[in-house]
Amino acid sequence: MTSTRTPGVPVVEDGALVSTNPATGEEVGRFPVATAADVDAAVARAREAATWWVGLGHAGRRQRLLRYRSVLANRITELADVIHREGGKPAAEAVVEAAAAIDHIAWAAGNARRVLGQRKLRGSLMVAEHAAYLEYQPYGVVGVIGPWNYPVFTPMGSIAYALAAGNAVVFKPSEYTPAVGQWIVDRFNEVVPEHPVLQIVHGTGEVGAALCRSGVGKLAFTGSTATGKKVMAACAETLTPVLVECGGKDAMIVEADADLDAAVSACVWGGMTNAGQTCVGIERVYVAERVYDDFLKRLVDRASKLTVGVGDDADFGPVTMPSQIEIIRRHIDDAIASGGRAVLGGPEAVQPPYVKPTILVDVPEDSAAVREETFGPTLTVTRVRDGDEGVERANASVYGLGGSVFSRSRGMELARRLRSGMTSINGAISFAGVPSLPFGGVGDSGFGRIHGEDGLREFARAKAITRRRAPSLIPAMSFDRTPKAVAMIIRSVKLLHGRSR
Ligand code: NDP
Repeated sequence: MTSTRTPGVPVVEDGALVSTNPATGEEVGRFPVATAADVDAAVARAREAATWWVGLGHAGRRQRLLRYRSVLANRITELADVIHREGGKPAAEAVVEAAAAIDHIAWAAGNARRVLGQRKLRGSLMVAEHAAYLEYQPYGVVGVIGPWNYPVFTPMGSIAYALAAGNAVVFKPSEYTPAVGQWIVDRFNEVVPEHPVLQIVHGTGEVGAALCRSGVGKLAFTGSTATGKKVMAACAETLTPVLVECGGKDAMIVEADADLDAAVSACVWGGMTNAGQTCVGIERVYVAERVYDDFLKRLVDRASKLTVGVGDDADFGPVTMPSQIEIIRRHIDDAIASGGRAVLGGPEAVQPPYVKPTILVDVPEDSAAVREETFGPTLTVTRVRDGDEGVERANASVYGLGGSVFSRSRGMELARRLRSGMTSINGAISFAGVPSLPFGGVGDSGFGRIHGEDGLREFARAKAITRRRAPSLIPAMSFDRTPKAVAMIIRSVKLLHGRSR
């Protein structure tokens, strides 16, 4: 946090967090910075609001969430404008982000009762006199800490699902995108004015740390792996359960039988949308040797036509967080110093606040550009024998978030072998737009799932209930059991489980 203004870098002035446009430095908004006491007070208010919210039942929450989603849908261009002004991404990309988030709100609202509501399950012979029920109950208050790169889509993957599950939410947006966070929370509170079911607390990482220690029932974090570890450590003090969605180093595998035009199109968009600042963005490409030269030529040709700038006609905008530019520069320099070549862009593509499309080849697998998350519009393209070697190399990463496979005949086989939470076959990032599919990673990419049925269950506790419906036929779980009952148990177990198949 600096006291003099650099475009895009938030500052605190007179107790207010001031956010600015990363390309122009224009002020976007100022927001009061919360203290730890403010965070605790917000959580206390949320606890009371949660009681009211739960009392509405699935139908009442569904109705309000669907109203919220329609408000966002009707004001989508306004929302996209705030995203564009604060984060720098072109308005069209902001519309796509907001549209996907709105879809998730509708799905979570529409499916919460089916997934989380009470259901009767089959009992067991040993306790046949008891009926069995399962339901999922909310945690009460869920804390959500979000990143700046998709300031609506990403936190909404937690917020909408947590709300639909019956929780109240206290949301801490990234200090880089407070205006977007405030806008989505304000719209919710217009739809649900009765109680503070969704609140926002602004500030730097310290406010996030305070939220971890505030006694929330669960903490959903999206951000870097390093901060994710700090969040887990803070939550461990109170045994607060966590959902941790971290970074990635996603690979695309292009098999020899791939549709190369489709692969090139997906690769350029998957790697460079939002200036490469996408957790599930493509950063490494492994291409079968038979099609490598052809693919690379087409890729460079397509990527060289991308436009970069602040205008609406740009394909992507500035790097949102200026400090990330040095990481991108280091990765490009390291790739070249270790024997790689830039076939497009390179060190001269780094023109703060922009980084132009960069394609690197012959980069050793142990260089930073292949191992670490770059979060810029750069791709390493590597020749491999075939898709099998591609999978092997893709999996040699500490991360395991998403990924992509291009093949006409081997798509499913290769996709299943990728060590990641999600994979697109003959596409890129498409899984993020399907609300019924869970989203999350393995390894350093974190654990737990947002979206889909798993995402709803992530924000609820399983509650098991049995109810006696008749006297015990065989009183197995009682000191009243007789030798005759034990003999019956032995006979029953042999009958039920004694066969080898
Ligand atoms: P950071 O880890 O820097 O920050 C994430 C959030 O945590 C911010 O709100 C930040 O606040 C807050 N924070 C910082 N320090 C602490 C702390 N000690 N305790 C609690 N909260 C804290 O990540 P970025 O914002 O830079 O986001 C980019 C990262 O997010 C990338 O690695 C990307 O891959 C990942 N990501 C993962 C996604 C997924 O679903 N798996 C989706 C999108 C992004 P502040 O900003 O105020 O410092």
